[in-house]
Amino acid sequence: MYVCGITPYDATHLGHAATYLSFDLVHRFLSLSGRSVRFIENVTDIDDPLFERANRDGVEWSQLGEEQVDLFRSDMSALRVLPPNSFESVSEAMPQIISLVQRLIESGMTYPLGSDIYLDGSKMDGYRDLPMSMDEAIELFANRGGDPSRVGKRHPLDPLLWRESSAGEPSWQASFGSGRPGWHIECNAIAMGLIDEKDLDDGEVSGGSRKWVIDLQGGGSDLFFPHHFMTALQARAILNREFAQHFVHAGMIGYQGAKMSKSLGNLVFVSRLTASGVDPMAIRIALMLGHYRSDREWSDQLLAQGEELLNRLRRVLGRQAVPDYQDLINEIIADIANDLDTPSALSKLDSYLEKALDGDESINPGSLSRFLDALLGLAV
Ligand code: ZN
Repeated sequence: MYVCGITPYDATHLGHAATYLSFDLVHRFLSLSGRSVRFIENVTDIDDPLFERANRDGVEWSQLGEEQVDLFRSDMSALRVLPPNSFESVSEAMPQIISLVQRLIESGMTYPLGSDIYLDGSKMDGYRDLPMSMDEAIELFANRGGDPSRVGKRHPLDPLLWRESSAGEPSWQASFGSGRPGWHIECNAIAMGLIDEKDLDDGEVSGGSRKWVIDLQGGGSDLFFPHHFMTALQARAILNREFAQHFVHAGMIGYQGAKMSKSLGNLVFVSRLTASGVDPMAIRIALMLGHYRSDREWSDQLLAQGEELLNRLRRVLGRQAVPDYQDLINEIIADIANDLDTPSALSKLDSYLEKALDGDESINPGSLSRFLDALLGLAV
C-alpha cells in the first residue's frame, strides 16, 4: 500500500491525523489478517508551500522539511500510528523521478513548453474516463495546484512532469534540463522505485489487459482529483498499467463549520492539543468515532466523548477480572472488516464497558487489552 504523505511545512493538524489514522487501521487489519504488507509513504519536501514558508522564516527549505517531518513522526507515534516500511522524501527519490521523466520523453509521450516538460495526456486518450465533466475537472485542477490556462499547453489538464526552478529554489541536473519535478510524478517514482518491475507480471488481471503496480493508493479525499487521477494516467503512460487496484480516500475534518485548512486558518494541531494536556489516545478515539470516509466535524464535545470512552476503558482494563469478551472481539473484527466501521466497533466496545463496570466478572482482561492495542491502536 502506498499512502500519499505530507508536505512538511506545518505541524500535523487533525485532518492529517484522521487520514493517517485511517490507513493505520487498514495497515493493522491487513497485517493481523495474515497478509504480508509493504507500506510506503512519501514526504513531499519539494513543493511551493514549503519553499514559501522557508523564505518567509529565513531558513533552509531542507532544514524546515526535516524539522517538520520529525514533528510529524512524533505526532504519529503519540497517536500510535505505526510507521510505514519506507518513508521516502521526494528529494531522496530524485534519481528515480529523473529516470521516469527520461523514459516518458523517450517514449514520445511528452512535450516541452519553454524549459518545462508536460505529459501529452490526449495522446493516450487519457481524459476519456474523467470522473467528472471536463469543465469541473479543469476548475478543480486549477484549485489544486494545476495550471490549466497556461498558454501553449496541448490540453488544459496535461500534468507538469518537470519544471525549471525559480531563483532560490533547489534544482537538480538532468539530461533534459536542470529543474525540479511536478507534483504527481513523485508518487509513481517512489512506488516504482521500491518495486521490481519484473515482479509486476505476477499480478492478477484488473479488467482488460492492464494490471496494477500496487494494491492500494491512499490519501485524503482532496487527492482523488487531480493527484490520484494523474498518477494513474502516468502509470498507464509509463507501463501501460493501472497504478493501483484500489484507491482509498479519507474524509476531510471540519472545524467551526469549514474544512480544516491552512488558507482558512482553522487548523487544530495535534501537538498543541497534547501540549495542553489532552491524551493522544482520546484524540485517536474521537477521530475513530466518525467513519473514515465521511467528512466530519471536530469539536470539544467530540473530544470529550473520546476522553469518556478512554476513561471507561482504563477503569475496565485495570480490573483483575472482567465479563467474557470473545463475542465482543468477533464483532469488532467484523466491523473493521466492513470498510473500517469504527463507529460501530466503538459503540459495541462502549456497551461492553458499561456492562463490565457493573456486571459479572469472569476472566482476565489481558487478551482484550492486547487485541484493542493490535487492531485499533488503543493502548491504555
Ligand atoms: Zn501521492
